[in-house]
Amino acid sequence: MRLLLVEDDLAIAEPLTRGLRRDGFTVEHVTHGLVALDAIDASPPEIVVLDLGLPDIDGYEVCQRIREKSAVPVIILTARGDETNRVLGLELGADDYMVKPFGIRELVARIRAVVRRTGTDTGASDADIDLGSGLVLDVRARRVMRDGNEVVLTRKEFDLLSLLASDPGAIHRRADILDQVWDAHWYGPTKTLDVHIAGLRRKLGDHDLIETVRGVGFRLRETP
Ligand code: CA
Repeated sequence: MRLLLVEDDLAIAEPLTRGLRRDGFTVEHVTHGLVALDAIDASPPEIVVLDLGLPDIDGYEVCQRIREKSAVPVIILTARGDETNRVLGLELGADDYMVKPFGIRELVARIRAVVRRTGTDTGASDADIDLGSGLVLDVRARRVMRDGNEVVLTRKEFDLLSLLASDPGAIHRRADILDQVWDAHWYGPTKTLDVHIAGLRRKLGDHDLIETVRGVGFRLRETP
């Protein structure tokens, strides 16, 4: 799914872009409102994630000008909760909003909900993923099947497995996993991650599916 991210704060935009790409999005990132409007003309995205505070014209104006020419879904990023009344109250045509700071999983869930609602989903990124050993990850239904039977996972376990399965064979660093599955501002014990990995291995019944890369992170075994 083609996503246009309009965000001038690189500390937010860079990890967000990486995370969204891992989730299967094709991300174009711009930092200015006028550049965003040009980008929408040049190559129409399927969804726009739009920050309000931009260096040239503000996000409200960008949103209004998008609406003058396009029905593309827009999710607004806002730093303060009290701006949300303005976002929705002024009927700028935004489809949803996120208050910073937020976790990437929450944003992805919002994106999918908005896309479902507005009917722009091409379905391309929701295909089942074959993990081998009779295990299949059903992204759309958020469940894992083993030989046709559902393996019951917690939400975090599913998110964790989805992340690893988004790029089999690639090493996912511990900090990146915590960042993406838990929260962009997770400062809790990293042992939480090991506990969830252990739970996943036990439930999936295949201890070699998720490999530990000592001192670095984890990776999902590539399907032969
Ligand atoms: Ca900003």
